[in-house]
Amino acid sequence: MTGDEVPHRDSAAPGPGDARTVQLRDNLAAAHARLERACRDADRDPAEVELLVVTKFFPADDVSRLIGLGAHAFGESREPEAGRKVAAVRAALHLDNPDTDSPTGGVTDTAPVFDMIGTLQRNKAKSVAQWARRVHSVDSARLADALDTAAASALDSGARSAVLDVLLQVSLDGDISRGGALIEDLPSLADAVDEADALALRGLMVIAPLRVDADEAMANAAQVRERFLADHPGATVFSAGMSGDLEAAVRHGSTCVRVGTAIMGSRPIRSP
Ligand SMILES: *Cc1c(COP(=O)(O)O)cnc(C)c1O
Repeated sequence: MTGDEVPHRDSAAPGPGDARTVQLRDNLAAAHARLERACRDADRDPAEVELLVVTKFFPADDVSRLIGLGAHAFGESREPEAGRKVAAVRAALHLDNPDTDSPTGGVTDTAPVFDMIGTLQRNKAKSVAQWARRVHSVDSARLADALDTAAASALDSGARSAVLDVLLQVSLDGDISRGGALIEDLPSLADAVDEADALALRGLMVIAPLRVDADEAMANAAQVRERFLADHPGATVFSAGMSGDLEAAVRHGSTCVRVGTAIMGSRPIRSP
């Protein structure tokens, strides 16, 4: 807080001085500082680790505010909330012309990108393929198949201009009811993605299991990743770390941290 910007109490519209913008600015700066420090402590270059701002449950206006503050990459986890929000943000930015509005950035480097990070049902594949740069949560060959079909038709219609990048979500504790594939199923799942023309295998995603030491969980994940990279050297993205455990994730090689609460504040209490 610099203290020299007094928020206008009754201004709801996103703008440099409204109270929410000031709060997001401070939280975003703190998250960047935290990430940079984590990288320094781990002897890593901060440029290797992307900060994905997780905006699920928060309105399109917040995404617009964050874009105004320099944020560029966002994570969403639920449909239809996500698709609607992305459309609203793009309309507000006048990016809603399909020719210039590709999920991978299209003609501009500064256009925001949105990733799907949450558990995904196959019947949502079609909509997700319209807006997502990347899906972090692929955990079955059937889902990969549905996303391939959806991405192919989005490419045909011009709704997207590049193949859909995917990460395989790994279940570290074998409790696949919380999403993720079993470690032993990763090779066949990777094959399914490799065979899909409209998908590109980019890496792995993990969520630390509940009640497990974060450092231990991330060390375990890093080993899984190392074995995976031996067979899939191009799949270098490692999406790991959230508000509570980003330092441990960075220590163990994360290339993408997904930060919600630490930037946005607490979400309404509902199942994610
Ligand atoms: C909600 C969510 C996050 C963000 O978690 P925070 O603890 O709020 O930072 C990260 N990853 C996934 C998959 C999520 O669903």
